Amino acid sequence: ASKRSNSGYVVYDTALEAHAKQNLSLMAELRHAVEHQELKLFYQPKVDLRSNTIAEVEALIRWQHPKRGIIPPDQFIPFAESTGFIATITEWVINEALRQRHQWEQMRLSLSISINISARDLLNPRLPQIFEQAMQRYQASADWITLEITESAIMTDPQSALEVLNHLHQSGFRMSIDDFGTGYSSLAYLKKLPVSELKIDKSFITDMENNHDDEVIVRSTIDLGHNMGLHVIAEGVENQATWDALRDMGCDSIQGYFVSRPLAADVLETWLQSSHWKFKAQH
Ligand code: C2E
Ligand code: CA
Ligand code: CA
Ligand code: CA
Repeated sequence: ASKRSNSGYVVYDTALEAHAKQNLSLMAELRHAVEHQELKLFYQPKVDLRSNTIAEVEALIRWQHPKRGIIPPDQFIPFAESTGFIATITEWVINEALRQRHQWEQMRLSLSISINISARDLLNPRLPQIFEQAMQRYQASADWITLEITESAIMTDPQSALEVLNHLHQSGFRMSIDDFGTGYSSLAYLKKLPVSELKIDKSFITDMENNHDDEVIVRSTIDLGHNMGLHVIAEGVENQATWDALRDMGCDSIQGYFVSRPLAADVLETWLQSSHWKFKAQH
């Protein structure tokens, strides 16, 4: 961030310096956020298209900043990933998600939970231990937990990803390839991966009713997944027509704003009880 001036003094690139300062304070603020309960998980339901039931929710992080309001994950997760702070965040997410699942179980609400795992987490040798501790603390078993791992995370270093995924698979976790279709997986790798689900990226889903190419991609991905014995879920379902089309194509589950936005835990509980969403399923 520095360069030598003609006079021999070191002058700093002020833009970069400001940027570095900003990142330092963002880092400090994130640490503060974890320590002061400013992070919060929201939960988005997944509908099983055969039974029209909701048995699983995806945990999605938000930062409730005391001054700046709710900050979405895209504004701090990539930063946390680039600095390694994601390890701390992921540990918090795992504990909070399992705590919530346990609380729901005590309310006789039985829900599986999906947790987003970053590329960097896959290289964290403490990851299995973090899971074990949280599962012990909150009396959870691995079959209640799905790990969503992006296709690009797997393809950055397929060899070591394969090792970690095998390990997690042996521990009994269900694994889903998130954002499928955006990360150029080779089919040879896909065959080797111990995953049980493909999640079709929302960029193919949102407009599939109007875009023939998207529709063809979605249909082929569902067939590909099924031919490999995988469960296929579509994210980003925003209207009834897309829901109907996916069901007719044999897609197994859906997730999206048309069913529900991600909700705070207590709001989700009320929403599930209202069962109003079932009218959409019966259309
Ligand atoms: P993702 O895992 O692909 O999550 C899907 C995103 O799409 C979420 O955004 C969700 O709110 C949004 N979404 C759901 N339904 C619809 C829909 O019908 N239409 C549209 N346009 N969007 C929809 P969100 O919550 O802002 O999360 C963004 C990304 O941040 C996630 O993408 C994931 O990559 C990351 N993320 C979120 N929570 C966590 C976390 O706990 N850990 C990690 N490592 N990453 C997380
Ligand atoms: Ca996800
Ligand atoms: Ca996704
Ligand atoms: Ca995504």
